[in-house]
Amino acid sequence: MPYVVTEACIRCKYMDCVEVCPVDCFYEGENMLVINPDECIDCGVCEPECPAEAILPDTEETAEKWLELNRTYAENWPNITRKKDPPPDADAFKGVPGKFEAYFKPDPGEGN
Ligand code: SF4
Ligand code: SF4
Repeated sequence: MPYVVTEACIRCKYMDCVEVCPVDCFYEGENMLVINPDECIDCGVCEPECPAEAILPDTEETAEKWLELNRTYAENWPNITRKKDPPPDADAFKGVPGKFEAYFKPDPGEGN
């Protein structure tokens, strides 16, 4: 039962989550992060850290469809363990619905 990052992270990318993960299993895309579900040890400490409430256990109905996206992009994006500055307009995208269709980018981020 790993945790996954959902579309609520897109364009918010606050990165409070990365510093608390004991196994460093977050990976950075251009405008969102994902969790490697095969590395996540299901500790749950990242979930309450996310200001966008983007992190959910994959057992939740709304999280299930994000599991494969997390697995796929965790293989292609660089590891991220240090918090960086969020995008300057992050707050404007907090809670906005339909962000995957409108804004998802498959390009990798910079990583650490
Ligand atoms: S804290 Fe939440 S919004 Fe920020 S990068 Fe992590 S998952 Fe995305
Ligand atoms: S649940 Fe724990 S191991 Fe999994 S991503 Fe969050 S902090 Fe890392």
